[in-house]
Amino acid sequence: MPAKKVLVIGSGLGGLSAAISLAQEGYQVAIHEKNDKIGGKLNVLKAQGYTFDLGPSILTLPHIFERLFERSGMKMSDHIPIRPLRPHWRNFFEDGKVVDLYPEPEKMTEEARKVGEDPANVERFLKYSADLYDLTNEGYFEQGLDTAAEFREFYGLGKFLKFDLFRSMHGGVARHLKTRHMRDIFDYFIKYVGSSAYHSPAFMNCMPTIQYRYDLWYVDGGLYGIALGFQKLLDHLGIEVHLQSEVTEVRKQGGRVTGLVANDVFHEADIIVSNMEVIPAYEKLLAEDDAFLKTLEKYEPSCSGLVLELGLDRQYPQLAHHNFLYSEHQKKHFHTVFRKHELPPDPTIYLVAASRTDPTVAPPGCDCLKILPHIPYIDDSKPLTRGDYMALKERVIDKLERMGLENLRSHVVFEHCWTPLDIREQYHSNKGSIYGVVSDRFKNLAFKAPKQSVRYPNLFFVGGSVNPGGGMPMVVLCGQNVAKKVVEWDR
Ligand SMILES: Cc1cc2nc3c(=O)[nH]c(=O)nc-3n(C[C@H](O)[C@H](O)[C@H](O)COP(=O)(O)OP(=O)(O)OC[C@H]3O[C@@H](n4cnc5c(N)ncnc54)[C@H](O)[C@@H]3O)c2cc1C
Repeated sequence: MPAKKVLVIGSGLGGLSAAISLAQEGYQVAIHEKNDKIGGKLNVLKAQGYTFDLGPSILTLPHIFERLFERSGMKMSDHIPIRPLRPHWRNFFEDGKVVDLYPEPEKMTEEARKVGEDPANVERFLKYSADLYDLTNEGYFEQGLDTAAEFREFYGLGKFLKFDLFRSMHGGVARHLKTRHMRDIFDYFIKYVGSSAYHSPAFMNCMPTIQYRYDLWYVDGGLYGIALGFQKLLDHLGIEVHLQSEVTEVRKQGGRVTGLVANDVFHEADIIVSNMEVIPAYEKLLAEDDAFLKTLEKYEPSCSGLVLELGLDRQYPQLAHHNFLYSEHQKKHFHTVFRKHELPPDPTIYLVAASRTDPTVAPPGCDCLKILPHIPYIDDSKPLTRGDYMALKERVIDKLERMGLENLRSHVVFEHCWTPLDIREQYHSNKGSIYGVVSDRFKNLAFKAPKQSVRYPNLFFVGGSVNPGGGMPMVVLCGQNVAKKVVEWDR
């Protein structure tokens, strides 16, 4: 019997992982991508001798990526050169304190003491995080659980209660850590999924373990090297990739999807996997009715971001590779972004200076900076203009200058900036979201949409809008779990 045909809409890491995993299962797979290169938000900008990661810049859990290569008898290290970074993060506070994060306990002890935190508190917090990680990983991550019923069946009531259900992420942090500095730092691990530590469930405290146990990695030459490595797998498996091929419709008949339309041409499929997010796909490609779309409202977008790249004519040696510059009032920052949906007056800022460890990404003696404050997704009831976003950009640069990057403005020789409007345009993400669906204990208990469509059994979804959610390793895992779901359903 000829292999069944799977069409994948979008070549983000989730789409690529699903395509690769399904081809490894013997399906005939083709990808349609609207942009002119693969990778989706894993994106790169090269200009005037600078190389910027436009999207992700921190690689975690590389063993999840490795599985895709292993299943084709290949080694990831032959195609994607990675190395661990030290420190993991450098954290700057307005009061002048600077704290580094290291996975080595003795170094972390010294860092905790710098801000008056009892190192034993950090140790206890990391044990709490590790327990949550192991619990979350065995079912939600690795089994690809999608619904409360699947959760109940896998975990049973006894284990379910161990998720520290009655606390927020911040509640879990504050129970263990006593200083404002350490609390702000560990609250900000929520950055990996673009949510608020005050509104997401406590089990999100599993995230420090992802770094502390499995390390934090860089890809030499920039993170886009992951997409280049995946291209080798696509070639090896004979997966067709149609670039600049925007899908404008998914056709359906008798309760099943039959194929898709891209560049005005219909392509028939036995199975479709959409890496376009769930809400835009149901709305724009499947034209579902309002009553159905309303049932999806609980899958609110994660935050968006102001993505600012600066090429400098000098270096700021005080920067590490990954830096965080904290808001004076982080609780207010989260509240402004995630509840009021307004641009924060004093955001916490993530700043990457990849030139600190990789001399190939900037001219000699120069830094290339990627600066990312998390900001609200696009709220059509309160539209913001590019001018509003540019005013925020000026506040961000003021804050960086105040916190030690002296005369930053006068050293900028190249600048590029994307607002949520550009992000939505570029990736068709829901309201400019950068991590898919938000994790919110009140709105969705951190559940995202299920991987198999509840309307069309031969339609599947992959990426940040379905379980387990955003972040590179999670969407790559999601692609592998989608393939398992397809195989179980199909055979
Ligand atoms: C600025 C930024 C920083 C980040 N930092 C990190 C980090 O440090 N570490 C980390 O792990 N994660 C990070 N993330 C998150 C991570 O990039 C994402 O979670 C992940 O890459 C998303 O993958 P995805 O599979 O959900 O799809 P996406 O990357 O969203 O890709 C979807 C693809 O589908 C295509 N598409 C959409 N609609 C159509 C259509 N109709 N027809 C054809 N093609 C279509 C899009 O063009 C896109 O290529 C960051 C994201 C951003 C934007």
